[in-house]
Amino acid sequence: MIVDADLLLNYQRCNRRAFLDTYGDPLQRDPTNDYLVKIIQDSQLHHQAVMANLPYSQPTYPRGDWPAGATATLAMMQQGVDRIYQGVLLAESEGVTLLSIPDLLVKQPGQSIFGDWLYMPMDIKLGKRPKLEYQVIAAFHSYVLAQVQSAWAEQSWLILRERGEYPVDLWEVLPRFQEILAGCIQTLRDRQEPEVFIARNRCSLCHWFSHCYAIAKATHHLSLLPGVTPVRYAQLQELQLTTVRALAETSPAQLEPLSGFGRDNAFKLVRQARSTLQNQAMLIEETSDSFSNSAIAHRGGLPNRQLSLFLPTAPIELYFDIEAEPALNLVYLHGVLVVDRQNQNQLFHAFLAESPDDEALIWHQFLDLVWQYPTAPIFHFCPFEVQTVERLAKLYSSPPEKIRPLLPRFIDLHDWVTRLVTLPVESYALKSIARWVGFEWRDPAASGAQAVYWYSQWLETGDRSFLEAILIYNEDDCHATYRVKDWLVHFLTTVYQAELA
Ligand code: SF4
Repeated sequence: MIVDADLLLNYQRCNRRAFLDTYGDPLQRDPTNDYLVKIIQDSQLHHQAVMANLPYSQPTYPRGDWPAGATATLAMMQQGVDRIYQGVLLAESEGVTLLSIPDLLVKQPGQSIFGDWLYMPMDIKLGKRPKLEYQVIAAFHSYVLAQVQSAWAEQSWLILRERGEYPVDLWEVLPRFQEILAGCIQTLRDRQEPEVFIARNRCSLCHWFSHCYAIAKATHHLSLLPGVTPVRYAQLQELQLTTVRALAETSPAQLEPLSGFGRDNAFKLVRQARSTLQNQAMLIEETSDSFSNSAIAHRGGLPNRQLSLFLPTAPIELYFDIEAEPALNLVYLHGVLVVDRQNQNQLFHAFLAESPDDEALIWHQFLDLVWQYPTAPIFHFCPFEVQTVERLAKLYSSPPEKIRPLLPRFIDLHDWVTRLVTLPVESYALKSIARWVGFEWRDPAASGAQAVYWYSQWLETGDRSFLEAILIYNEDDCHATYRVKDWLVHFLTTVYQAELA
């Protein structure tokens, strides 16, 4: 059995993934998605940029022949080569072969089996932050290297994008690394497939997603319920609450004392289970009243149901969505859907930076448009749009008189939805909610990550079909926000009127 850095990295993210990568049926793996391809390409470019000015030597050996690679690397270390790029290190631990290929082995003064020098590992990472999972991998390289050279390097380094070199505190990270290595080896030895647990942030880029999601759907797995985290899932299992029905039928009082729950989260989770089980939207204050007879939840002194009166329906409304490329720190599209309710028409405006140099130009075009409708509310989904407007205003020194009156016009629909209603959805992302209210994207596979890939392809190839795909996706996002807003107003008004009747 071989454990390498990739396996250990994936084990940290999800033990099931490490298991499937080792024993899973390769035919059940998803093809590499476009966004991942872009990340791999960006990582290669980052490697090239770091290595461009560093002289180095690299061992040669037949592809995949790790013992030959380790022998060639050892020979270079014995010769005292200053920098070895992607050398191969092999060691044994509890009958398992550890395979480490640090990006660089850098010669240092010190004592080792080679003489009065030893090597220190460095890993080049695309990330901007020294995440703990990277530091654990740095400790892995140090651990294997210590066995090869019979000496511990003082430090292990990460070379990060933007932040540059980062020294890993080995003595702090080593105990964590050893725990993770032992867990990984045990999981692989047990050959017991770990239970599926869908967590969007880690599963969305995993090549087992379709396989795992199908299992989760078929078993109505609780991880598909918003608010069920791995920690909470373990707590619920201890209480034998392992189905949506069981959770829906439990009293929030049973969950309230659990660590990390409290009253609000207990109500929220049980309400979520009830909404999912009954496949219906629930006004938040109503359900909590029926749970506890407690006072009505208030916001700004008003009961939730009356808030519908304050979610504006104006003669002209703007629906706004931004596309950005994080690696370039670039906003390349402001999409605005102008909804004229009086004349019953809708017009989509797209301010698109065909070149990254056009960011300022499209920002000013966007400002001109929103000031053509000086009183129109600007609906968006999640805080990113308004945060970006504030950032761009500073970046391009926009006059305060153009920005200050603009900011109160922004209305974050995600905030409104999540404060007021519980929905039978798997997540409170725009796609999930808009689909539940009946909206469909023209390209069902389109996503923010996919748009990032399309934009990079446009810059690389000049093929306008990539820009067209982005525009369709962005326009659909604006329309989806519009649909969600209308649904919410309708739902709140219906509840309010039913109460008055
Ligand atoms: S899809 Fe999620 S649960 Fe399945 S292996 Fe990947 S990360 Fe783990």
